[in-house]
Amino acid sequence: MSVIKMSDVELSGKRVLIREDLNVPVADGHVTSDARIRAALPTIKAALDAGAAVMVMSHLGRPTEGQPDEKYSLKPVAERIAELLGRDVPLAKEWIGGVSVSPGEIVLLENVRFLAGEKACDDTLAKQMASLCDIFVMDAFGTAHRAQASTYGVAEHAPIACAGPLLVAELEALGKALKEPARPFVAIVGGSKVSTKLTVLDALADIVDCLIVGGGIANTFIAAAGHGVGKSLYEPDMLDTARDLTANDFDRAEIPVPDDVVVADEFSADAAATTKGVADVTDSELILDIGPETAQRFAEILAGAGTIIWNGPVGVFEFDQFGFGTKVLAEAIAASNAFSVAGGGDTLAAIDKYGVADDISYISTGGGAFLEFVEGKTLPAVAMLEKRGS
Ligand code: ADP
Ligand code: MG
Repeated sequence: MSVIKMSDVELSGKRVLIREDLNVPVADGHVTSDARIRAALPTIKAALDAGAAVMVMSHLGRPTEGQPDEKYSLKPVAERIAELLGRDVPLAKEWIGGVSVSPGEIVLLENVRFLAGEKACDDTLAKQMASLCDIFVMDAFGTAHRAQASTYGVAEHAPIACAGPLLVAELEALGKALKEPARPFVAIVGGSKVSTKLTVLDALADIVDCLIVGGGIANTFIAAAGHGVGKSLYEPDMLDTARDLTANDFDRAEIPVPDDVVVADEFSADAAATTKGVADVTDSELILDIGPETAQRFAEILAGAGTIIWNGPVGVFEFDQFGFGTKVLAEAIAASNAFSVAGGGDTLAAIDKYGVADDISYISTGGGAFLEFVEGKTLPAVAMLEKRGS
């Protein structure tokens, strides 16, 4: 990698703007899984210890761009960083016009997605961000697959743009894992971002030997197999894509579709869970987890794997009655001898919930970026760092 590393740059007395991925789950104003915050902490500490004036920026959730909304405020994140650092971490609400911060101090900048032009990588916005700092540090692996103002544009215009230690570690660890994977190579793709993840599956099908699907992705495959999925989360526009993927093709990954599922009449914390065959789902039901038999079948596949990559919970694990499938798979990954890599915001929360972090070989902070890296794509934000470093 021909990028400048943060560790090679003199930070003392400099204004250092660090892009982290602090997109963590928040409920009732509190961070419910701080894995991404803890992963970013060594970078932040290193910059503070070096005597930099530190500004940290991130996105959180999917607010309507340009519209500040308390629901997506980074305030709970500032509070959690303050607890972990044992010092005050002020949150700057209005910051694009200028930030007041002294060497050795830290300010968290409010959600970058409250600014119009972030996603489209607006050049004026990127220049404003760049003008806040002497040195820009890209450390957010989880957003490196998006060319946005705070990940890509700012790196183009900042006086110096370098890679933070977390980003460097992620790229090296994943690169190593994927170079010559021990086989069988099994991928689990679940979760709710169905349309984006379905396109990734097409590429994954050429790389892995078995592709286990869960969540909204599995629901799309269940619908593609001709079953009713009621009110479930799925992607009606991608049924053909799913059908193509499951068509018999010996060169491509096998994609086992669930036989049993866990359904409910509503999406809620106290919804009653019923297990049934995949053909028996009614119009008024939602599939919220894979069934126990399917979970067992998938666990056996994982037990024999040489390499496992995991992104996306296979059910609504936040509600215990729909968490069994994710728990069984998490434990199967932990128990297997495979080299295992897991990534994704909610996947990290599931790993925390089921206490399997120590038995997974490498935990990445990235979800979408992680999948694109696995696919072999060049992450745009990394490409920009390479350009600035050459
Ligand atoms: P990650 O953050 O790990 O990349 P996603 O954001 O794509 O994963 O998806 C995680 C979310 O998917 C979880 O909050 C979970 O509740 C939800 N989910 C999983 N299975 C289902 C399902 N069958 N229906 C609706 N939501 C689901
Ligand atoms: Mg998520």
